[in-house]
Amino acid sequence: MIRSEPAPDGAILRRWIDLAAAEIRRNREFLTQLDAAIGDADHGVNMDRGFAAVLDVVQPSSGSSSGELLGQVAGTLLLRVGGAAGPLFGTAIRCMGSELDRAHASYPRALASALREGLAGIQQLGAAVQGDKTIVDAYAPALVVFERHVRRGTDLARAARSAAEAADAGARSTVPMQARKGRASYLGARSVGHQDPGATSTALLFAALAEALAEPAPQTPARLSRGTSTS
Ligand code: ADP
Ligand code: MG
Repeated sequence: MIRSEPAPDGAILRRWIDLAAAEIRRNREFLTQLDAAIGDADHGVNMDRGFAAVLDVVQPSSGSSSGELLGQVAGTLLLRVGGAAGPLFGTAIRCMGSELDRAHASYPRALASALREGLAGIQQLGAAVQGDKTIVDAYAPALVVFERHVRRGTDLARAARSAAEAADAGARSTVPMQARKGRASYLGARSVGHQDPGATSTALLFAALAEALAEPAPQTPARLSRGTSTS
């Protein structure tokens, strides 16, 4: 049975953002190394700068709705990440927030449609499709898996865990691809044989979502903190 829960509350979204910042911080050097191979070696630094700024800007009391909260996160990422990834992730998170405010469906379905809107935002902005060696190669398969689980009524924690696994597999699947979008595409065939940095950070964001949904929601809003849990 699909659990009929209210829309994701602020505490869960805050927890996701907190855990995402920690995942990005832990993997900053790895992401930058991936970008050094097929880009300009700034992806890990860019993402970490953006998420660190989010933790500074978005306070536990920020935003009265999911849309407002994620809108603040998105605005900060847009301003502070820079590169290609800032506008792409910023847009995805803004679209997710707007959809969560609009959605009247129960929790799992609302989250699924928010994630779908996030991908739509990325593809509207960046025009990448699966196989182009971008964020989309991790995001699209993760979304398909998440939606399938939600349709079947799988519990949310398991749906998110399966989606995170699919995102990780999607990121790895970029290794043999030739980049057709973004800076890596300038390398042509020389982009083959390297994992895409943006797809990798996407997998980290899905891993953080799975982690946020795996644990019971905190009684009080999680305090946003840089790379640490407050519980
Ligand atoms: P930049 O390439 O400007 O230095 P980053 O290094 O922060 O930006 O991000 C690079 C990542 O952005 C790539 O690994 C890729 O996943 C993603 N990317 C680039 N262009 C697109 C696009 N059009 N659609 C989706 N993702 C893209
Ligand atoms: Mg770069």
